[in-house]
Amino acid sequence: MSDWMKNVRDVQPYVPGEQPKCENVIKLNTNENPYPPAPGVQEIINQANTDSLRLYPDPEASVLVNALAEYHGVSTESVFVGVGSDDVLAMAFLTFFNSDKPILFPDITYSFYDVWAGLFKIPYEKPALKGDFTINIEDYMKPCGGIVIANPNAPTSIYEPVNNIERIIAAHPDAVVIVDEAYVDFGAESVLPLVNKYDNLLVVRTYSKSRSLAGLRIGYAVGNEALINALNSVKLSYNSYTMNMPSLIMGTEAIKDEAYFRDTLHKIVTTREHVKAELSGMGFSVLDSKTNFLFAKHESISAKYIFEELRKENIYVRYFNKPRIDNYLRITIGTDDEMAVFLDTVKKIKKSVDI
Ligand SMILES: *Cc1c(COP(=O)(O)O)cnc(C)c1O
Repeated sequence: MSDWMKNVRDVQPYVPGEQPKCENVIKLNTNENPYPPAPGVQEIINQANTDSLRLYPDPEASVLVNALAEYHGVSTESVFVGVGSDDVLAMAFLTFFNSDKPILFPDITYSFYDVWAGLFKIPYEKPALKGDFTINIEDYMKPCGGIVIANPNAPTSIYEPVNNIERIIAAHPDAVVIVDEAYVDFGAESVLPLVNKYDNLLVVRTYSKSRSLAGLRIGYAVGNEALINALNSVKLSYNSYTMNMPSLIMGTEAIKDEAYFRDTLHKIVTTREHVKAELSGMGFSVLDSKTNFLFAKHESISAKYIFEELRKENIYVRYFNKPRIDNYLRITIGTDDEMAVFLDTVKKIKKSVDI
């Protein structure tokens, strides 16, 4: 072993869902939106002038911060933007979780939380979700260095009512509570209005799912001005120019089109409920979803088998080989046409097993 190896940071990286390189796949494995982003974004690309790219982007990302502040009815000092919510969350872990006490997040949740805790050497505990995958609120009532809750949760799709989350926030005036609302637009209630009431609440959002812009990498946080100020200080100690100019401009444009946004969400939610009913009819138990995906297990066919058979047909869903969830599939909601092919293929797989 080379001498320098003992000084290498020891990390277990996050493993994202596969991005298949081939064409003609039905991609239901990373919760991307099947519909294009707001039409105004396309117009910006059509009219783009590369001359402006000579210049560094605004390190304060003001156009986007201002637009998001206006959209949510908060001050510009209450908004922080980053390169996807992954960047915002990583910055928040680095900024707020410097206590000797462990931070808390559920045993089944977004699997990047463990990775950041490991990277930044933050002690953590993972209270187990109940059998129905809801949170046991009492688990979060003890002293801790901070709390992270994805609501609705991934990969379970389950939504925890706002008053339960508020109980957790209220119990910890001395610790920051991060609520990751990556999927909130698909039918859940947000804790965002509570940022005026609790100075320890940071709400994190993303453009990747509900706004069809995973490729641009835009996420943001809304919270008390002191929290946002602390986040900006850490960010400016690390990399001033995280937000590139095209993302700032297109991200600002994307939130102007509320009608398009609502229409896209409505389509996805309608398709979701239809697919849920169809899967239930085929012997799946499907959890109640407030997201753009379904979490489902079959009464007799293993999730791993269905996952592999679907993959042979170029249909990609997500399978997690992890305790408690290794018999579930996470299925992103695509277009109606994609979901028809998906359901048809599942039907065939089921039939081939039944014989
Ligand atoms: C997708 C996802 C993210 C990351 O989204 P990006 O903004 O694309 O980085 C964060 N949290 C949860 C729970 C997610 O599902």
